[in-house]
Amino acid sequence: MTRRLAVATALVVLTLLVGSRWVTNRSAVLANQRTTVPASPTTPSPTGSPTPSTSPSAPPTRVAAPKPPPAKRAGNGPFGSLKLTGKKTVALTFDDGPHPVWTPKVLDLLKATGVKATFCVVGTEVRKYPELVKRIVREGHTLCNHTWHHELDLGTKKPAVIKANLERTNREIRKAVPGAKIGYFRHPGGKWTADAVKVARSLGMVPLDWDVDPRDWDTEDAKLIKSRVIGGARSGSIILMHDGGGDRKGTLTACPNVIKNLKSRFGIAQLR
Ligand SMILES: [Zn+2]
Repeated sequence: MTRRLAVATALVVLTLLVGSRWVTNRSAVLANQRTTVPASPTTPSPTGSPTPSTSPSAPPTRVAAPKPPPAKRAGNGPFGSLKLTGKKTVALTFDDGPHPVWTPKVLDLLKATGVKATFCVVGTEVRKYPELVKRIVREGHTLCNHTWHHELDLGTKKPAVIKANLERTNREIRKAVPGAKIGYFRHPGGKWTADAVKVARSLGMVPLDWDVDPRDWDTEDAKLIKSRVIGGARSGSIILMHDGGGDRKGTLTACPNVIKNLKSRFGIAQLR
């Protein structure tokens, strides 16, 4: 009887031991499964620049994307476009003109404040108002190609189509100002693609992105435009505003305060 009891006890103890061992192992397996679940998908970079893919088995410490190499003319915007000036000074850019009402007013203001800016002009508007392009150049500002007709999807077209569009725009600009230097290209809507950047560079134009977008095309509220620019600006910001494409009263009203503020904080310098 005692012997039987001893055997039975031994069996119970053995069963318990094996059972708990199994549970322990199972917990370990489950724990391992949790830790080996691949990390959540990489969030797309807000700049649109390609993110290097990482193997799911790579330790989390190796996930960080390498910093882009420093480049004098940028490398910090989508596909290596220019987002910051590379200096402390900020730069003003005006898009979608020339416009018969607003471009002259913007030019007057820039002259009065002694500021040189960059004008990203649209080919069809250049054809309508060549005199304004002449004035932009005469007053020492920088020119930027902004496509023939503000084609938002241009970058998705074949490189030959992109090239033809940019060349047509440059031809129209040079019809207004023979031999004009067109050192920059800005894709409409900032919808950069690798091809758009490549074609622009092949034509000798630096792809010009921006750092501060007050969305002045979407509001006539000068106070809002002012606070968005002043609040968003930092060392080297390239600031996007509009002299064309609609009623630019808000932008024009905001500009004197914006210019005063940016001058005192960073200085405003021309992109060359
Ligand atoms: Zn535009």
